[in-house]
Amino acid sequence: MGLDIIVGIKWVPNTTSVNIDEKTGTLIRTGVPSIINPHDMDALELALKMKDRYGGTVTVITMAPPHAKMGLEHAIGMGADKAILISDKVFAGADTLATSYTLAKTIEKIGRYDLIVMGQETIDSSTAHIGAQLASWLNIPYVYYVIEAEYLRSSHKLKVKRLMEDAYEIYEVNLPALISAAMHSQHPRRVSLKNKLRTKLENPIEWWSNGVLKLNPNCIGLKGSPTIVKKIEFMPKVERKREICPEKDPVKAAEWLVRKLMDEGLLKL
Ligand SMILES: Cc1cc2nc3c(=O)[nH]c(=O)nc-3n(C[C@H](O)[C@H](O)[C@H](O)COP(=O)(O)OP(=O)(O)OC[C@H]3O[C@@H](n4cnc5c(N)ncnc54)[C@H](O)[C@@H]3O)c2cc1C
Repeated sequence: MGLDIIVGIKWVPNTTSVNIDEKTGTLIRTGVPSIINPHDMDALELALKMKDRYGGTVTVITMAPPHAKMGLEHAIGMGADKAILISDKVFAGADTLATSYTLAKTIEKIGRYDLIVMGQETIDSSTAHIGAQLASWLNIPYVYYVIEAEYLRSSHKLKVKRLMEDAYEIYEVNLPALISAAMHSQHPRRVSLKNKLRTKLENPIEWWSNGVLKLNPNCIGLKGSPTIVKKIEFMPKVERKREICPEKDPVKAAEWLVRKLMDEGLLKL
């Protein structure tokens, strides 16, 4: 028997094109394209590698607005078997507690699983709370910053290697467990046409509203969120010094650039 793996991905605004409303201090999301949180691509790749090696299934879940279906289609295109879009107006405004609770209840409803793989953190909120909170709701072990994972079939355990600042740590954990993939630890594969066609032919994406999950409205969304962001006091301003290199000759231009960087104290020879 293989491993049944669940991967959590977040559909995030592409932060390279996000601006902040100076008056309200909130993100201006309108018209901003969204992407799969880049660090979740490491999680998905790690899970797909394990499926390739040990067999089993990969199910991707996301709690997000309906347009996140595009992200799930991408995940199916990479090789995930199935995806669940947890989407309902009552889930909106969730802080990390309400988000992790909703994800935990979704996973309980999925039922059987051996492993959950998450990203290290997101690029839009970056709390890195969700993995730890989710493991706590589900009462399973949690190991973060994982770069490699090996399934020990005879003992039904997972051997994981995790990256610390100046060392690697090796753990053996009982399954089911939750791991988060260290950022930039994998090389996410491309979407294949064969897999992409499955999104059209096999309907592998399910939509679960609260009509399906039947969660208490006081425990989800804004109502279930004890964290209140009252105000953002400080918005850093990035001021750029622009200077155009006057040199046309590439060697002289390089010398000019090196001199400038040394003058600014950014380069020492
Ligand atoms: C008071 C308050 C109100 C908020 N209101 C909103 C709001 O209205 N809209 C909004 O978009 N955000 C809102 N947020 C942000 C929201 O709390 C976070 O987006 C969310 O809880 C996830 O936290 P994070 O991004 O820090 O995830 P992290 O903990 O950094 O993520 C770790 C990993 O968990 C997984 N993960 C994270 N989120 C999801 C998800 N949704 N589905 C599946 N897997 C996931 C991914 O694998 C990710 O790499 C609010 C936050 C607060 C405090």
